[in-house]
Amino acid sequence: MMEVKVTKTTNPKVKPDPATVPFGVAFTDHMFMMEYDSENGWQNPRIVPFGDISLNPGALVFHYGAEVFEGLKAYRTPSGEVQMFRPAENFKRMNNSAERLCLPQFDVEDAVEYLRKFVEVEKDWVPDQYGTSLYLRPFLFGTDADLALHGISHATFMVIACVVGSYYKSGLAPVDMLIEMDDVRAVRGGTGYAKCGGNYAAATRAGEKAAKKGYSQVVWVDGVERKYVEEGGGMNLMFVWDGKLVTPELNGSILPGVTRKSILELARSWGMETVERKITVDELMEGCKNGTVQEAFMCGTAAVVTPIGGFVRGEEKVVVNHNKIGEMTQKVYDELTGVQWGLKEDKFGWTV
Ligand code: PMP
Repeated sequence: MMEVKVTKTTNPKVKPDPATVPFGVAFTDHMFMMEYDSENGWQNPRIVPFGDISLNPGALVFHYGAEVFEGLKAYRTPSGEVQMFRPAENFKRMNNSAERLCLPQFDVEDAVEYLRKFVEVEKDWVPDQYGTSLYLRPFLFGTDADLALHGISHATFMVIACVVGSYYKSGLAPVDMLIEMDDVRAVRGGTGYAKCGGNYAAATRAGEKAAKKGYSQVVWVDGVERKYVEEGGGMNLMFVWDGKLVTPELNGSILPGVTRKSILELARSWGMETVERKITVDELMEGCKNGTVQEAFMCGTAAVVTPIGGFVRGEEKVVVNHNKIGEMTQKVYDELTGVQWGLKEDKFGWTV
């Protein structure tokens, strides 16, 4: 690991009230960055005052979407310590994303140490109310100023952070999901399993359309056969189905969520059978109607768990669990948030 040079700001900002702060705008005082070139590898890891960066307008990131990112959080425990949840998982996924886009990879352990150092510098920014946290956004982009289509020989890796409040200010409430039959988020062989900016650009239109109709998220359907449910907006999908925990299998177009993985591990530790398989839209709608789908929820870093109250496909609407939050959904939420905020024993060694 290279030494990280730290330059502190001389102009610290006023910290926001986590109770009212919107997601994603209240950036901290510093940022981490380092650069890559194919001759020297990664160089010059440093923590500097948060601010604008300067790039050549020809940089690949602007033209061919050469960018991957991650999202994870730092939490304050009741004893005042600060901890992160499974950061190595995020960096492993980031390397997989980078590999897909021909961006340079990095050493996962080094990256965790750099992140630890960055959070150490920003520790006063980690809020202390339950449900609030410091959201960490590592990102990596190609900077070659060259419009020819080819591999990347220059890149920048950065981490920025922002204070985020409780996702559910008035508690967990089930949401209705619109099954998206027109736009496709990702296809097998494409970049669905990679956390790259392009996937989110492609997802925006359907999200906006759903929001206009009053739905908080869409259900993405596979892009090849247009038959199988894949993800819920920017989260993974889970069902309690005939007493088992069922989730779409990772097929290349689904993002392998760290929360998804953790919930599968938790459920197995509770003795619950878990199934990763293909799930058709038809059988999901039918399962909700006949009650074999007992609970449905989305999972991801931002909200941890979001209960689903119903699914809408065109004119057809089905309700899940009488539009109430299910027992397993609540249990998963309580357990995961308990570990993340240091209120429950971390039996799996997930926190750093
Ligand atoms: N799917 C998509 C498309 C996402 O953007 C996210 C958020 N990273 C997830 C699933 C959930 O992943 P995680 O649990 O790692 O936050």
